[in-house]
Amino acid sequence: MAGDWVLGIESTAHTFSFGLVDGDGVPRPSESDTIRPDKGGIHPREAADHHVELSTDLFQRVLEKNDITPQDIGTIAYSQGPGMGACLRIGAAAARTISTQLDIPLIGVNHCVAHIEIGREQCGCDDPILLYVSGGNTQVIARLEGRYRVLGETLDIGIGNMLDKFARKHGIPFPGGPVIEQKALEWLATNPNPSLKGLELPYAVHGMDLTFSGLMSAANRLVAEGHPFEAVCWSLQEHAFAACIEVAERALAHTGKSEILLGGGVACNQRLRDMSTIMCAERDASSHCPPRMYCIDNGTMIARLGWLETRHGRQTTLVQSGVDQEMRTDSTPISWP
Ligand code: AMP
Ligand code: MG
Repeated sequence: MAGDWVLGIESTAHTFSFGLVDGDGVPRPSESDTIRPDKGGIHPREAADHHVELSTDLFQRVLEKNDITPQDIGTIAYSQGPGMGACLRIGAAAARTISTQLDIPLIGVNHCVAHIEIGREQCGCDDPILLYVSGGNTQVIARLEGRYRVLGETLDIGIGNMLDKFARKHGIPFPGGPVIEQKALEWLATNPNPSLKGLELPYAVHGMDLTFSGLMSAANRLVAEGHPFEAVCWSLQEHAFAACIEVAERALAHTGKSEILLGGGVACNQRLRDMSTIMCAERDASSHCPPRMYCIDNGTMIARLGWLETRHGRQTTLVQSGVDQEMRTDSTPISWP
């Protein structure tokens, strides 16, 4: 007889990851690997090849680390979208194979909703506004009438993608976000009062929406004009993060909610976390952020959402198990409290 663990497989983009929750939905750290091209951005087919190569190894590692066997798994969850088609298909194929071999149910889940649910579970917040800041996505999301609704989002590229592209132009390989954070800190260390020395950049809030490509071009221009790279990194972060926090604050005001939850890889950034904490303190709200291993893409969040979905009666048949590159956050009905 199959056990009651849920295995989650994440493969939307650069990261291939296997994670678990136990029968009570309690998360266990994922086993993951991220493709890091020497030059250029993430090529979907190269990332897919990377995922195929690691599939067996990651599956074995996550079982070994948790001291379980395949027979302990009762459900297979996988990211059904949104993401890069070639990458999504590898995760879905791995999930279908394991499901068929072990004769256990399959559940395809929404990657964006998984970021929210692992955050709620980790931080114990109830009904937050999610500021979802990742490589490919930047959205401000709230639960309203049985769906997670997108109240505002980027109109061009994701904030992480903007940081990565800016970094790449200046010789820093993927992922560029953490290096920009480091450079900004170096600037702060040598310039204790940087607000007096901030460089001017466009501020890209459009109502509840955001744009980042103009900001990136302007930052590139500042570097070309000879401004210190560290100073540009600092100013770029300040402008991009302030724009996100402004939209998140307006979402709090419009919905009357009182919690912010950060998610996605850019939520690893301490300055963004601090800005959110300051904004929330100013309006009697609370700011929450899961541990960094659950901010970046991970299989555990997929397992957690699979656990929630199957406990509320949903399952994916083989016929329904195709991937959806364009899956929207608000296309998934939310039936759990
Ligand atoms: P995700 O797409 O959610 O897996 O997140 C990956 C993105 O997070 C990449 O664009 C990274 O550059 C970005 N990222 C990771 N760590 C940081 C950090 N400390 N500061 C800013 N961006 C980061
Ligand atoms: Mg993500």
